Amino acid sequence: MSEIEKTLSIIKPDAVERGLENEIKKIFEKKGFSIIKEKKIQIDKSEAEKFYKIHETKPFYNDLCSYLSSGPILAMVLEKENAVSENRKLMGATDPKDADDGTIRNKYGISIDKNSVHGSDSIENAKTEIDFFFSD
Ligand code: UDP
Ligand code: MG
Repeated sequence: MSEIEKTLSIIKPDAVERGLENEIKKIFEKKGFSIIKEKKIQIDKSEAEKFYKIHETKPFYNDLCSYLSSGPILAMVLEKENAVSENRKLMGATDPKDADDGTIRNKYGISIDKNSVHGSDSIENAKTEIDFFFSD
């Protein structure tokens, strides 16, 4: 059975820098996601380290955290039936060169690190990630 879910999406610095926020938001809305909260912020590196803690043992962790804190981002709560998996489908593969046609990363991603969007990968992580940005 499908359930209404919430997931966290982030428009990453590379896409904000290129002025793609509204274009990407329209893609979510056209696909039936409601953007129920949004916040444009720049986080510092220690906050990025906390956000990406699940990746702390990975070789790309340091660069990833530097990158996410390098400029403004747009954090959003998206709501839809099966929002977590539907958003992952719409985002496409982590590496834009592997992302299917019609996905956000295929269209806008520059490289595996500058891949334009983040999306929670499970319902449990979505809750944690939404709290991270929208606990107040
Ligand atoms: N990443 C990277 N190099 C890699 C793998 C991942 O720079 O070899 C970055 C990439 O920006 C990715 C983020 O780390 O979006 C988190 O990785 P994850 O495997 O969770 O990918 P995602 O869930 O974002 O598709
Ligand atoms: Mg991930």
